[in-house]
Amino acid sequence: MKFRFPVVIIDEDFRSENISGSGIRDLAEAIGQEGVEVIGFTSYGDLTAFAQQASRASSFIVSIDDEEFGDGSDGDVEKALAGIRGFIREVRKRNTDIPIFLYGETRTSRHIPNEILRELHGFIHMFEDTPEFVARHIIREARKYLDSLAPPFFDALMDYASDSSYSWHCPGHSGGVAFLKSPVGQMFHQFFGENLLRADVCNAVDELGQLLDHTGPVAASERNAARIFGCDHLFFVTNGTSTSNKVVWHSTVAPGDIVVVDRNCHKSILHSIIMTGAIPVFLMPTRNHYGIIGPIPKSEFDPETIRQKIADNPFARNAVNKKPRILTITQSTYDGVLYNVETIKDILGSTIDTLHFDEAWLPHAAFHSFYRDMHAIGSGRPRSDDTLVFATQSTHKLLAGLSQASQILVQDSKNRKLDTHRFNESYLMHSSTSPQYAIIASCDVAAAMMEAPGGTALVEESILEALDFRRAMRKVDDEFGADDWWFRVWGPDRLAEEGMGDRDDWVIHSGDRWHGFGEIESGFNMLDPIKATIITPGLDVDGSFDDVGIPAAIVSKYLAEHGIIIEKTGLYSFFIMFTIGITKGRWNSMVTELQQFKDDFDNNEPLWRIMPEFAKRFPKYERVGLRDLCSEIHEVYRQYDVARITTDMYLSKIQPAMTPADAWAKMAHRQVERVAIDDLEGRITAMLVTPYPPGIPLLIPGECYNKIIVSYLQFVRDFNGRFPGFETDVHGLVREKVNGEDHYFVDVVKN
Ligand SMILES: *Cc1c(COP(=O)(O)O)cnc(C)c1O
Repeated sequence: MKFRFPVVIIDEDFRSENISGSGIRDLAEAIGQEGVEVIGFTSYGDLTAFAQQASRASSFIVSIDDEEFGDGSDGDVEKALAGIRGFIREVRKRNTDIPIFLYGETRTSRHIPNEILRELHGFIHMFEDTPEFVARHIIREARKYLDSLAPPFFDALMDYASDSSYSWHCPGHSGGVAFLKSPVGQMFHQFFGENLLRADVCNAVDELGQLLDHTGPVAASERNAARIFGCDHLFFVTNGTSTSNKVVWHSTVAPGDIVVVDRNCHKSILHSIIMTGAIPVFLMPTRNHYGIIGPIPKSEFDPETIRQKIADNPFARNAVNKKPRILTITQSTYDGVLYNVETIKDILGSTIDTLHFDEAWLPHAAFHSFYRDMHAIGSGRPRSDDTLVFATQSTHKLLAGLSQASQILVQDSKNRKLDTHRFNESYLMHSSTSPQYAIIASCDVAAAMMEAPGGTALVEESILEALDFRRAMRKVDDEFGADDWWFRVWGPDRLAEEGMGDRDDWVIHSGDRWHGFGEIESGFNMLDPIKATIITPGLDVDGSFDDVGIPAAIVSKYLAEHGIIIEKTGLYSFFIMFTIGITKGRWNSMVTELQQFKDDFDNNEPLWRIMPEFAKRFPKYERVGLRDLCSEIHEVYRQYDVARITTDMYLSKIQPAMTPADAWAKMAHRQVERVAIDDLEGRITAMLVTPYPPGIPLLIPGECYNKIIVSYLQFVRDFNGRFPGFETDVHGLVREKVNGEDHYFVDVVKN
């Protein structure tokens, strides 16, 4: 297979008509004769930007000419070396392996200090050897380097795909050939390209190993990833962390087991509860009035508190085994709140069998000391005596995985090791028997990319970009001054003027006003700076409404129409994240688009002008001004005191009337009925009820509707009726037209 990894030459004489220029051009030509591409530069330009070429080059040839050494005085030599030293340092920060050659005249080599020589793959003496000889030497080293790049599975898959074997196995498109037999198939083939289809094979191909049994190159890749992520066992999963969570749960939880779960967990955990027949006991996170979910207070983890919760729960208190089987928390909430894992392990001791950290948003943390102890597993982390620790990570969310790429990490305890054979039975229960090989390869590559030092550099870069974004937003704010408005980024008041600053700035301290979580334990949590929640005006952290407000839903619709898609939108906040794929262009466009929004808001521009697509779909807003629309929705939010309702509703006492699995059984057996939302109070939900935003389940099958939840659902109905296009979607509600009007229903257990 042919790749484009040119040899990069840096020589200020590359285009000069002198002897040195002609020497380097002869070398370039000789390399080209061997079929290898060469790119020549005459200077580094911006060093950091230049060093990033290392990800697309196969080697560097850095010239060091006689003239640069001037008369040989120390000053001249130092100056010449400084450039090279800086270049090498920048490259090696990310890449320890790419070959770097120095190219110059014989007598200059003695000027090169050891610290530079050590990083080199050779010193090429101009005119001593023939250009052809030197070219072959360079190409050999470059090839050796490129051959070492691909991790085991990706390597084997590329080999297989380029082998042109006739396949009789699934998938039926046979390496893409089936597509070529129809016009629309042709289109599909051209769009995705031959390689994706050639590499789309099934697990009958022996030489690639098996994901489901963890053999061959797949197993080698999983071991490689385990080493990189610093865990004892690692399993790639091709159905997302939704599946990883179910695998972990089914490997250890059985009907009637007590489980301790973050109330604001992902729905896949709630599905796991239903599927395993567990009895859930919930840990309650704090919340602020922006709707941002805060940490579960440290006291909630106290074994005595958990015992009390078990005693208070009508089902858990009658369980045969009172020792919880598993504790699952969301390690990195949507908004970026992290827990100190070592503290949690210490508090719990051996009172729970298995700890599970849902790190869907945190696969990057193991690679930077900024996150020390604030993630589940990593090299050198202490082991528990008896407790197995699991982390499930969505490689595709923050690292370079294809959608659905996920992984399960395990840390054994001192006294109990994971039985991988038994664990795999659960893995099989939730895996397709036809895993997608491109996803496996992306798990493999995403892990290899994080190998030190490259991974650390990537994480550092995303933190730095995130901090630069925050600084840019503050600068805009400062320029507008106190009499004007601007968006704020949720986070600590103290922000280093440059660089990473102090990690302690991001640790959450009791009573600090910015977070709005009140008196919580200092040092137990931290905010991940790469998650940036942008706060729109209108609501303060105490939940009081200002006179003027800009509901975030309008901002995100506006941004969408200007080509910027937001991950999650709340009432007066929306969030963006700085993955390792972040670019300066992306976040700078955010800043400028927000400025456009501000202008359009201040001028009360009509929607037909600034959001034409949206106005076309919802003509009732065509002539409405942006500021007027904001005010109108803001007024409704204020009337209903919706920030407080939402917070109170999530924190309200909710009683289970049956276990989630029993409520699900009612659904399966159709012992449910569809009831209008006005009549819900006291009824048992058969559905998972999840409002978007924030996408956090509100009610779990088997729980009862209370007054505040009913009034929230009524608000949703009224709001959605008044503001089409800005609907709050509540998953679990059924909308039906009765006499031309929208009515909302939910499936509840029959009385
Ligand atoms: C996204 C998410 C998941 C599910 O991950 P997928 O890879 O999308 O299946 C699980 N837990 C949390 C906290 C998530 O945010």
